[in-house]
Amino acid sequence: MVEEIETQLQENIPKIISSQKAFFDTGRTLDVPKRIEKLKALKRLIEAREKYISEALFQDFKKPEFETFVTETFIILSELKFIIKNLEKWAKPEKVGSSWINFPSSDFIYQQPYGNVLVLAPWNYPFQLSVSPVIGALAAGNTVVLKPSEYSPHTSKVIEDIFKEIYPPEVVSVVQGGVSASEKLLEQKWDYVFFTGSVPVGRIVAKAIAPHLTPATLELGGKNPCIIHDSAKIELAAKRIVWGKFINAGQTCIAPDYILVHTSQKGHFIDALKNEISAAFGEDPKFSESYARIINKKKFERLQGMLRGEEILIGGQTDASELYIAPTVLNEPSLKSAVMEDEIFGPILPVLTFSEEAEIEKIIGLYPDPLALYVFAEDKDFSEKILKKYRFGGGASNDVVVHIANKNLPFGGVGSSGYGGYHGKFSFDTFTHKKSISKRATWIDMPFRYAPYKGKLLLIKKVMKML
Ligand code: NAD
Repeated sequence: MVEEIETQLQENIPKIISSQKAFFDTGRTLDVPKRIEKLKALKRLIEAREKYISEALFQDFKKPEFETFVTETFIILSELKFIIKNLEKWAKPEKVGSSWINFPSSDFIYQQPYGNVLVLAPWNYPFQLSVSPVIGALAAGNTVVLKPSEYSPHTSKVIEDIFKEIYPPEVVSVVQGGVSASEKLLEQKWDYVFFTGSVPVGRIVAKAIAPHLTPATLELGGKNPCIIHDSAKIELAAKRIVWGKFINAGQTCIAPDYILVHTSQKGHFIDALKNEISAAFGEDPKFSESYARIINKKKFERLQGMLRGEEILIGGQTDASELYIAPTVLNEPSLKSAVMEDEIFGPILPVLTFSEEAEIEKIIGLYPDPLALYVFAEDKDFSEKILKKYRFGGGASNDVVVHIANKNLPFGGVGSSGYGGYHGKFSFDTFTHKKSISKRATWIDMPFRYAPYKGKLLLIKKVMKML
């Protein structure tokens, strides 16, 4: 039955796209006041549905209501507020300085929506990571087809209902389904694709859209290092790391993946982690209302497999019937172990040590460019050196995860953790082609550029020197 519905939906995909294309071609999405009016209506509806959003996320993976508000609904509401406040200004043609070579002219950057946008979203922050790119694309005047994740079906349904109430399908359509729906969508020609998910699927997406040369943003993952210098405030570091690692049960693309702590601070740091884990989740985190579950059996088994043969310092308990994995800390796993081979994406935190900076470099250098990097140190020269030296999407000193919350910072990866960025004005820019326009005057026509060129080269060089 489910498969039948999916097939029907997928057969509709070309129809949805042609209706969106026809709508875009009418030019109606260029109406900025209308865009703002619709985004305001969307904001009001999300505010009204806050309870349903929380319930859906709880059904999907027992995400605590507080976490849902802080990391999903609040982020979207404040993003909407920011966009609504600034959109008129952003959407105006931007006047820029002219080139003397074109004198006289007035030059502008026009904000041109790409057209029909495809957004493919993951399950881990299923509301935020689906809705945020969609509102960026709509603010910029595009139409959107969104495919939320099949792994978080309750949230995906709430998202579909919300968009359906505000936008007609020729402006926003939500297509439900899994890999086959994605594949079907990727066979179509889009004007922009925004993908959030894993590196291997990112590669599939990049390959699928290459024949049409479709511009894209790829928001992928990676193995995020978290370095703890011997000058760091250890208790505070442990408190912030426990929060950022175990929120969403560790299923966070920018969570610290592994710790690199200075050998002299290892014991102190492990003790502090123990204290902070029990302060946050009690003696048995299984009964904590502040701790989520793993999204599904497949992901649970993958994570459980990473614990096999490892020395567990904290946690390690699992319960398949509840998809529960305790906040877990591992002692110096081998760099060849399963847990160090790939992005963990769960509540398992390996602790490795270093004595010399060269050892940090050696370990970080084993992995492709991460999405995030964190450094804890009171020694500012050390943290500055680390922040400048390595290539990573974004990060923080003396904290984890928090850079995502600032709308003035672009959020995105580099190298194999992806390309492009969004949030705030960066979202608007991501979904906007910057069209350069030179408006020439006709009251005069400078003769320099026209043939015959005889004698003009020297003259041009003289003028250049004068400027
Ligand atoms: P995923 O790559 O498995 O799935 C993402 C989307 O792609 C889903 O909608 C899914 O249906 C679709 N998809 C899956 N397989 C496909 C295929 N073969 N062809 C076409 N489409 C396919 O990722 P996930 O498991 O949902 O999310 C976890 C990953 O996403 C982690 O690696 C994490 O680091 C990354 N992530 C990155 C960010 C970021 O902002 N950079 C945010 C969240 C998650």
